[in-house]
Amino acid sequence: MLAAAICPIRNACLYISIEQAALTDSLTGVPNKRAMNEVLARACCLGDRHGEDYSLILCDLDHFKAVNDQHGHVVGDHILKLAAVELEKAVRNSDSVYRFGGEEFAILLPHTDEIHARAVADRIREYIGTISVNCGETDVSVTTSCGVAQRLPDETADQWLARADEALYRAKDHGRNCTRVFAAIGN
Ligand code: GH3
Ligand code: MG
Ligand code: MG
Repeated sequence: MLAAAICPIRNACLYISIEQAALTDSLTGVPNKRAMNEVLARACCLGDRHGEDYSLILCDLDHFKAVNDQHGHVVGDHILKLAAVELEKAVRNSDSVYRFGGEEFAILLPHTDEIHARAVADRIREYIGTISVNCGETDVSVTTSCGVAQRLPDETADQWLARADEALYRAKDHGRNCTRVFAAIGN
């Protein structure tokens, strides 16, 4: 009986590890965009059903191409890993961090309105600002811009994401290293 059970258990374990790998960013170890899409869709359902507040923060490292160009991709990769660590440190355990794109991260904040999400985004910018990588004669540091959007009633994940992205665009347009909120009212 034991011998008969080993093969299905091994297959189940293999399936779980493949599934986990498909949802994890291999460089930073945080969940990837695919994982984020699944969680955002679920957050939209829960938001509609229970009227819970959810906010989303998009963080994009500033002038990151210049970091790669001046110091190389190995340094760039190292900074991305450190950025993921700082992001995890800056948010609560109930919040979740995703690598959304190359040098872009997303943070989902349940039970959080846009006012509190802005405070978290500003804390994230502070934490990212502490990163310092010694490269011979210079210490490399980075800043990040943040876009915040609280989910509106009946909003789809794509619409919500688009507003957070618009807020991020405004932060970049304002000169970077700042936070912008796509306010629920007044846009
Ligand atoms: P902005 O402030 O407008 O965001 O400028 P930026 O240079 O950060 O943005 P841009 O989109 O021009 O460049 C993004 C850079 O991020 C270019 C690319 O080389 C780098 N990047 C993306 N993914 C990775 C990665 O996995 N590793 C490294 N080292 N660099 C990456
Ligand atoms: Mg970018
Ligand atoms: Mg960037």
